[in-house]
Amino acid sequence: MIIAVDGPAGAGKGSLCAALEEHFGFARLDTGLLYRAVGMKVLRGGGHPEDAAVAEAAAHALEFSELDDPELRSDQAGQAASQVGAVPGVRAALLDFQRDFASNPPGGAKGSILDGRDIGTAVCPEAEAKLFITAPLDVRAQRRYKELQSRGHEAIYATVFEDMKKRDERDSGRADAPMAKADDAYLLDTGDMSISEVVAAALQFIESKTK
Ligand code: C5P
Repeated sequence: MIIAVDGPAGAGKGSLCAALEEHFGFARLDTGLLYRAVGMKVLRGGGHPEDAAVAEAAAHALEFSELDDPELRSDQAGQAASQVGAVPGVRAALLDFQRDFASNPPGGAKGSILDGRDIGTAVCPEAEAKLFITAPLDVRAQRRYKELQSRGHEAIYATVFEDMKKRDERDSGRADAPMAKADDAYLLDTGDMSISEVVAAALQFIESKTK
């Protein structure tokens, strides 16, 4: 079984997928990490993430071990990810890996959970259960701001808000596999929901799909 979870940054995909991973015992792939790793690889090599040839070469050279880097969680990596993610050759280079993970989950797991922006629409349109998780921009920016503060990072709310807005626009406006809700995805607005409410609603939906 494949569970596809899409949506913008700060909507709660990470917390939801961690809970689903524990509940079902499936293998999980945070596909954003792939794009973050490509973006950081380009920056470290002195290139620009919007340079298509450089970004595509970095995507082809990406190794699984590079996904462990804690720097990938930074906002700088998030912006670079969004820039390399607009390059069609980068998306094509990462597609086989994601599809292979989905259909042959590692560790003998009986299913997979993939989260990203285009899983239900482009990577795994055949997924049995698709969810699109969102929340208003100001709520998502607040969550991100608090998370940065709690990790001891200096952050300015207005900057976090503007960066998130820019990333949303780039992710939903790009020509190739833009962030979008699949027609058959279950839409969850987590703005007024606790994590446990989100998990309960998602589980109810997923279980309705497996009966
Ligand atoms: O989910 P996360 O914030 O880690 O994603 C970072 C960026 O990677 C996104 O803003 C998006 O541009 C890109 N991405 C993508 N397709 C995915 C996952 C992430 O384009 N499936």
